Amino acid sequence: MSEEFFWWNDEQKAIYKDVRQFVEDNFEEAEEYFWNTKFPWPLVKKVAKKGYFGVGVPKEYGGLELGATGSCIVAAQLGRLYAVGHVFTVSMLAGLEQLLRFGTEEQKESWLPKIASGKELGALCITEPFAGSDAANVFTSAVKDGDEWILNGKKRFITGAGVSDRYFIYAKTSDDKAIRKQYGHITSFMVEKGRPGFSLEKINPLIGFDNVPNGYIDFDHVRIPDINRIGAVGNGWNVMMAGLNFERLIGAAVFSGLFEDVINLLFHFTKRRVQFRKTTNQFPGIQEKIAEIITKAKVSRLFSYHCAKLIDNGGEPMVEASIAKMINTEYARDIGLKAIQVLGGDGLTKFLPAERILREAKIGEIVAGTTEVQKMIIYRFCAMLPSYNKPMRLKWNDKVNAPIISKKESQFKGMDVTEENVLKVISHDYKVNPGLYMTPDDVREDIGGGRSELRKIFEQLEEQKLIVIHRDRSGKTALVKATYEGLQKAFPKEYYQWFPAWYENR
Ligand SMILES: Cc1cc2nc3c(=O)[nH]c(=O)nc-3n(C[C@H](O)[C@H](O)[C@H](O)COP(=O)(O)OP(=O)(O)OC[C@H]3O[C@@H](n4cnc5c(N)ncnc54)[C@H](O)[C@@H]3O)c2cc1C
Repeated sequence: MSEEFFWWNDEQKAIYKDVRQFVEDNFEEAEEYFWNTKFPWPLVKKVAKKGYFGVGVPKEYGGLELGATGSCIVAAQLGRLYAVGHVFTVSMLAGLEQLLRFGTEEQKESWLPKIASGKELGALCITEPFAGSDAANVFTSAVKDGDEWILNGKKRFITGAGVSDRYFIYAKTSDDKAIRKQYGHITSFMVEKGRPGFSLEKINPLIGFDNVPNGYIDFDHVRIPDINRIGAVGNGWNVMMAGLNFERLIGAAVFSGLFEDVINLLFHFTKRRVQFRKTTNQFPGIQEKIAEIITKAKVSRLFSYHCAKLIDNGGEPMVEASIAKMINTEYARDIGLKAIQVLGGDGLTKFLPAERILREAKIGEIVAGTTEVQKMIIYRFCAMLPSYNKPMRLKWNDKVNAPIISKKESQFKGMDVTEENVLKVISHDYKVNPGLYMTPDDVREDIGGGRSELRKIFEQLEEQKLIVIHRDRSGKTALVKATYEGLQKAFPKEYYQWFPAWYENR
């Protein structure tokens, strides 16, 4: 059994037990809906009655107030009830975090109790035919008309399309290029099903999501009151981003209960399957696969709850939410593949849930931002983090006659900032980092001087073809390196030579 984590509070521990029991009690019914390809309305109503839809909603609005951690706990268990997990997840994502952060008191009082009760389901509408990974490229427009907004456009790949009553949508409210450049052209709205002009256009036949409707919504001059606008006009991008961290985390956590079920199944199955007069669990290859599955299940679960805790502590863990989403879905695909391999032909049948995990995992790697997009986020944010961008300069250490990462002052410090000495600094760097350029700040750190003084010297050295300047897009000097001629001018050939003590053939 998966453990409760020690940092969960008593209420979170209690709901973990409660929802596990709920899933045990309703597992078979969920499977029946899966086999009949029916939307599990009665089961969704049972989930609503338990109050689980309100797990992340504050108590004052009728929820359980168990935060991102509680939401993960419930999503991970309900994920084992297949369609119910998807519906639960999307319904919560369609407004909860966005309202909590950007809604007015009146809006919170109006919508949060509805989310908490689960009587109405919610859908999240970001994606459009021409806005996928590039989610800012929305064409659906919202135009103000008195106290109302008129919406026109199409949204697609919407989970819960048709069965949901609330649609949290992002629409374009400006065509101004300058505003668009600042991501100020999007505004978010809550739209109720049934408003004139709102219609369901298509339901997608998908690789997975077998009994969860996912499709296209058409907004044809749909009028909504201004009170349905969530957040300021033009602030939709920030609303979307705030919601996405939570969405990615919950989308990740929804797999972890399934992993436990698969591990259970593999132990059960391989202790009963005999080949070559041995149960298959005795084969090292089978044990290795199960061990790898357990490892991935535990690592991804731990990371999800770490990320949930960061959110509950008031953080905006963009990188962690992307990592959680990425590893849970990649691991889910790998777990699905390995589980099928362990089960053999039986694993390929729909009678066992291994093939289902594989199909769902593939969806997971695309929905809520593809794996490529998660990697982009992880890279871009980490590239700006001071902790990953501390100076790590190699400096020549005469005692060992080798370059060592060092904070010691450069041997050139205090010298006059002349062309000759600056060339020496840059050429010396060839001895230390033969394949790297120096930043102007590296040169400045070594010899001192002002930025503009050094810039002029760089340009003069460049004119004499003694150094190469790498300029950024705006034409500014970004990096410098000595040319072959520059190296020769700065120091004799022997200065750059280095041989290990054992090498005699010089
Ligand atoms: C089952 C399912 C449920 C969904 N549910 C919802 C929902 O409820 N609400 C909603 O709004 N949306 C939903 N989506 C949409 C989902 O979020 C998008 O499908 C997803 O963001 C990818 O967009 P796309 O399909 O248009 O692919 P594209 O953006 O066209 O991407 C195609 C490929 O190009 C790659 N790519 C794109 N841009 C870059 C880049 N800059 N660098 C590197 N590679 C790049 C992608 O990684 C991908 O491999 C759902 C999708 C599915 C399949």
